[in-house]
Amino acid sequence: MVATSTSKLTLKDFIDKLKADHPDFYFKGGQREYWSPETHTITFDRKRPEKEIKFGVLHELAHALLEHKNYSSDLELLKMESEAWHMAAKLGRRYGVRISENHIQNCLDTYRDWLHKRSRCPNCGTHVIQHGPSTYKCFNCGSIWRVSHERFARPYRMTHR
Ligand SMILES: [Zn+2]
Ligand SMILES: [Zn+2]
Repeated sequence: MVATSTSKLTLKDFIDKLKADHPDFYFKGGQREYWSPETHTITFDRKRPEKEIKFGVLHELAHALLEHKNYSSDLELLKMESEAWHMAAKLGRRYGVRISENHIQNCLDTYRDWLHKRSRCPNCGTHVIQHGPSTYKCFNCGSIWRVSHERFARPYRMTHR
């Protein structure tokens, strides 16, 4: 990567630059990183390593810019996460932060694993597509199973490691 004047931004300069470039959003320290569409706030965990903070903030900013609010299925969440990571990688170039495709795929794998488990019929083991926001229905044996709402209630408040 070509070195630019932004390639060695301190965390403070990085956040200040983001604030200046995106005056519509608030950036503040908190327990973990997430984007709140209600308050237009991007929260990040100051205790984490600097690189992880930068990745996380760019990821949440991407959710914000993409106007992600809600999703109605697990697949839609996976799609949003993928979009957010790819936009974060693009945004990163402006701030001297390089997010590799490898890192993105690792992050998305945690969602893929999660989705894989949820979509497996507990009766016959067939993998099926989602039936409703919290239900799956097996086309093979007719079983219906419910999945937790946790991620729907707190869509972006999960870690992205
Ligand atoms: Zn996300
Ligand atoms: Zn089944």
